[in-house]
Amino acid sequence: MSLIFDIKRYSINDGPGIRLTIFFKGCPLNCIWCHNPEGISTKREKLYNRQKCINCKSCVAKCPNSALAMEYDDISTDANFCINCGECTEACPTGALGISGEELSAEQIMKEIKKETIVFDQSEGGVTFCGGEPLIHRNMLMELLDRCGELRIHRAVDTCLFASEEVVREVAGNCELILADLKHMDPQKHKEFTGQTNELILSNIRMLAGEGYNFTVRIPLIEGVNADEENIKATAEFLASLPGAEERKVELLPYHNVGIGKHSRLGTKYNPLNIPMNKPSPEKISRCISIFKELEIEATAK
Ligand code: SF4
Ligand code: SF4
Repeated sequence: MSLIFDIKRYSINDGPGIRLTIFFKGCPLNCIWCHNPEGISTKREKLYNRQKCINCKSCVAKCPNSALAMEYDDISTDANFCINCGECTEACPTGALGISGEELSAEQIMKEIKKETIVFDQSEGGVTFCGGEPLIHRNMLMELLDRCGELRIHRAVDTCLFASEEVVREVAGNCELILADLKHMDPQKHKEFTGQTNELILSNIRMLAGEGYNFTVRIPLIEGVNADEENIKATAEFLASLPGAEERKVELLPYHNVGIGKHSRLGTKYNPLNIPMNKPSPEKISRCISIFKELEIEATAK
């Protein structure tokens, strides 16, 4: 069993064709801009949407652990008492409360994947495993990759690569495409923005390139974090120095702030460092693409 927080159909941004994207819960990084913050914790979490709440207090009455209270027209949860049992979400008449994370077996996930095989065939798509971080669910991921491989379903794995070389190699050898996230070239800035330094990630990218695995580098492009000329040049030079650079593809993912609302529903803090983060201008995105192009690396913006 693995904790899954979403299964998205008809995705067109996570690999070729139309895809089914499986989101594993839990991530070793904690990026300040994360747009899927419900994927960070390895545990089930309660979500509260203030806008949908009608202050009926049904949830407070239902909670078996007295973990909920109504304070200033807001439901607050005492994390020391909440066991994420979900009883309050069932009592809520408006859907203001929800639980993120469901334990699913490989059989249950495969059932969802198999429903989409016609879409995969017609669009030359497939399944993408992401998160959170799928590699921390190694056994489940490997079983799903094997079973999809037997059915000749295209398999992509979207990963931050903060994992042992052994696990990365095993996964890369059992899928058609690795989507490798690269956030910053400076180890200290990487640690500041994500909670971890980047040496392991860069080392895994070197290994993927050296051993000829098929991978695309994905960069969340954020003004105020990593969209500066110095970092983009360092990224391009790093990728250009690796074997197979002429085949390398880079996808730039311009910043958006959908994580703000999700953090609010989780009761966690978005951008705790208060770093001014912005979407790069079209001119900046073009400039970044041309920096890669100067080193003969194909970059596109999503
Ligand atoms: S998830 Fe369970 S323990 Fe937590 S607040 Fe809701 S009812 Fe109470
Ligand atoms: S049951 Fe739902 S609508 Fe009622 S107070 Fe609780 S969260 Fe708000």
